[in-house]
Amino acid sequence: MSASRAVLRDLRTHLVDLERSDWLPGWMALSQSSGRSLETLRSAVASCRRCPLGFSRTQAVFGVGSECAKVMWIGEGPGFEEDRRGEPFVGRAGQLLDNILASIGLSRRTVYITNVVKCHPMVDPGQPQRRGNDRPPTEEEIAACRPYLEEQIRRIRPQFIVLLGSVATRAVLRTDRRISELRGRWCGHPGFPEIRVLPTYHPAALLRRPELKSAVWQDMKALRKELAVEDGLA
Ligand code: SF4
Repeated sequence: MSASRAVLRDLRTHLVDLERSDWLPGWMALSQSSGRSLETLRSAVASCRRCPLGFSRTQAVFGVGSECAKVMWIGEGPGFEEDRRGEPFVGRAGQLLDNILASIGLSRRTVYITNVVKCHPMVDPGQPQRRGNDRPPTEEEIAACRPYLEEQIRRIRPQFIVLLGSVATRAVLRTDRRISELRGRWCGHPGFPEIRVLPTYHPAALLRRPELKSAVWQDMKALRKELAVEDGLA
């Protein structure tokens, strides 16, 4: 092969690579060859300032659990306790999530838990030490953080994703439909069609409205059934 044809071939390969990764920050595209490990991604999130939340957080909350998890659970964003402790779902809602997991034979160690945004959205970013200062993430914050979530999904490759609450459901499924319409319905992930997605209510909503617990229990039974099928037990 002549030198000029070799250069052209390399250029074409480079352009295809760029096309595949143009939504990713450069370091993330490079890291795709580094296997399933989430550590490079975790480090990038720890120092991220891609949106204003990065300037007010105490620490980023990346995710917790197994990198080989069959089920990934995605919530809205860190709250006060998570911001202090660096782990998702550690307050009262987190305890309830632990109970929900246990009810179908799962645990924080066997699944993977993360949020749509990795830093604490606050009503008053000047008072990170104040309780009750939480708010939902904005569309812009969700968009800025989306590459991290999608890279987590890409690396973990779960078979199922459970979306906890309306913010996670709207962000991941890219829909304006209400959680009350979508909960309990199996959906496809827009970017990962092989992954089955189940929206359900957020544990914090169950603390406010205990009457929603029976719907979540129905959803958990549906998930348990699908897991049993996957394991050849049903
Ligand atoms: S919320 Fe996401 S995009 Fe925004 S600073 Fe934190 S890690 Fe970066």
